[in-house]
Amino acid sequence: MRRGSSKRELAAQSEVEAVAAAKAETEANAGVTAGQTGVDSGAAGEPESKAGEEQTQAPAPVPEQPCAEEGDARVAPRRPPTLHAHKPKPARDLCAHGKPRVKGSSCRRSVRRPEEQSSQRPVTVDSSKARTSLDALKISIRQLKWKEFPFGRRLPCDIYWHGVSFHDNDILSGQVNKFPGMTEMVRKVTLSRAVRMMQNLFPEEYNFYPRSWILPEEFQLFVTQIQMVKDDNPSWKPTFIVKPDGGCQGDGIYLIKDPSDIRLTGTLQTRPAVVQEYICKPLLIDKLKFDIRLYVLLKSLDPLEIYIAKDGLSRFCTEPYQEPSSQNLHRVFMHLTNYSLNIHSSNFIHSDNASTGSKRTFSSILCKLSSKGVDIKKVWSDIISLVIKTVIALTPELKVFYQSDIPTGRPGPTCFQILGFDILLMKNLKPILLEVNANPSMRIEHECELSPGVFENVPSLVDEEVKVAVIRDTLRLMDPLKKKKENRYQQLQKTVAGKEDSLDSDLAPDSSPEAHLPSICLKQVFPKYAKQFNYLRLVDRMANLFIRFLGIRGTMKLGPTGFRTFIRNCKLSSSSLSMAAVDILYIDITRRWNSMTLDQRDSGMCLQAFVEAFFFLAQRKFKMPPLHEQVASLIDLCEYHLSLLDEKRLLCTRGGSAGSRLSQGSSPQGACPAAQPVAGNPPLRTNGASKCSYPRHTLS
Ligand code: ADP
Repeated sequence: MRRGSSKRELAAQSEVEAVAAAKAETEANAGVTAGQTGVDSGAAGEPESKAGEEQTQAPAPVPEQPCAEEGDARVAPRRPPTLHAHKPKPARDLCAHGKPRVKGSSCRRSVRRPEEQSSQRPVTVDSSKARTSLDALKISIRQLKWKEFPFGRRLPCDIYWHGVSFHDNDILSGQVNKFPGMTEMVRKVTLSRAVRMMQNLFPEEYNFYPRSWILPEEFQLFVTQIQMVKDDNPSWKPTFIVKPDGGCQGDGIYLIKDPSDIRLTGTLQTRPAVVQEYICKPLLIDKLKFDIRLYVLLKSLDPLEIYIAKDGLSRFCTEPYQEPSSQNLHRVFMHLTNYSLNIHSSNFIHSDNASTGSKRTFSSILCKLSSKGVDIKKVWSDIISLVIKTVIALTPELKVFYQSDIPTGRPGPTCFQILGFDILLMKNLKPILLEVNANPSMRIEHECELSPGVFENVPSLVDEEVKVAVIRDTLRLMDPLKKKKENRYQQLQKTVAGKEDSLDSDLAPDSSPEAHLPSICLKQVFPKYAKQFNYLRLVDRMANLFIRFLGIRGTMKLGPTGFRTFIRNCKLSSSSLSMAAVDILYIDITRRWNSMTLDQRDSGMCLQAFVEAFFFLAQRKFKMPPLHEQVASLIDLCEYHLSLLDEKRLLCTRGGSAGSRLSQGSSPQGACPAAQPVAGNPPLRTNGASKCSYPRHTLS
């Protein structure tokens, strides 16, 4: 979510950036055609020639957060949402005029030195918290000719690069490479819940995520559902994979054939976990199972902007694959593709080029598949679709985190984030989402055992090739001076065009600010494909409603008054739904969700509980299924009533102030008896998807 500019400015800015990115991309992807899902598949696929060596997943360098990379699961718990609100930061919170500093405001710009405003000054990057991504970041900054501050800077930097989370540092301006709440959102249990919510609405569209049950609360459901399928089909011999919540790098994962497995009983008693259908028929290369690590840039939450790196990594198992049987269930080198596990196998091969060994570039795999006649454009198109749908499942709650950490009007940075998507290709080439990492490892070296017990870090060329490009091009896309540089370049070009026979080398075409860099490796997929995917963004629109009624800023849960106000303002109560019934609905659903969710600090209704209540209300009001039609109709209805209310309040404000000017002393309330206050009332931040289309559904 972009902050500190008006919405129109933001839209215009994103348009300019999108056009610029699209231009670069068109050059890079010339000739790519649309895949079967209607999504352009242009990404990896060209053969790779550079050699590469394997990267060692060394323990994260900060002892208190030993497993922060890759799985990002053991990151320190989220700080209370009052972080920015209550810490006294007098000097930095005020602008030069002594007014509260507002993100991206003209005040902040006015305290900058003139050269700081210039497109020619280098972009500044604070790398003091970059941790294991530091090496790749340094190379990227050098390539871009930007300025690094490895120990931080007294003055604000343009970009802050954090190794672990948004909360690594208190930042009040600029851009930071983490979103608040992302770490929590991609934990195994939370991700499963978010995808499940989308599966309820759009089961076909979200069938790329294996059927999953959350333990311990859904254990009985798991047992019952499996038994039902077995009763129907006695020859079905499923396998399940159990993944502890908050685990990473294959830690604590095991396979079972039956819900009665004794290890499952142990897990039920210790920590939350996800039990998931095991994909038994993965695509094999050289008889080995492998998965794909793809890098995805979430450039902005509102408006939603997503980019995918054109190349990623493929991590291989080190023991030939066999379908799971009770004899091989325990063989991790056969079933789990984690680099951190397979590095310990005697069969592990450090790659000496991009297309061999236990870690290869994804483009080398596509090349191999293409030579066997596989339609790799369709594979890419399906992967892009999976990525967009997954991000759409994550964004609603991320918005709630965002407004809680950086409430509207408070100083704070804008955010972007590189995510690591782990994807498995099935034998039939269908991509399956395994997990999303908030802190994908950006290490570009691996440990080498020189002699027994003596280790040395050596560069890993495969990692470097892929990861440096991802970081460098993320920075290019986030460049705060990009527009100024482009404008300056365009002016120079016009000048050149105006001067006949000019051979002035300063003004020659290669003076383009990015002339020395390779074409950008990140491909924009959203809003580029917004038309195909916007219909899925129903929960996003529900989150906008939820945020509007949240009440006290900084909270993530809706109180009973907020819920009642929502019902009243959206005119949802009726003779068949009394306010007493609304209160009971609130209490029932809230109590159940609060007993399930990990975060029990705040009381009140979380977003998922609100969505469940919304589903209930939609089903009551609009009798004809499917659920997503009912929900869409109810959202339309709510947005319609709220827009009427907003209009009315606007008129009242104008009328009220005019009235008070005309007749001083008259009651301001008297000017507008019809307007109802909206609890909390941060303005409803809409986006393309949430624009109301009133006439679409019959309003009852
Ligand atoms: P972690 O965060 O611990 O790496 P993952 O969810 O990525 O956990 O699972 C670890 C590995 O297990 C994956 O890299 C993949 O090889 C395998 N795996 C995970 N889920 C499945 C599944 N549903 N079907 C088949 N293999 C799976």
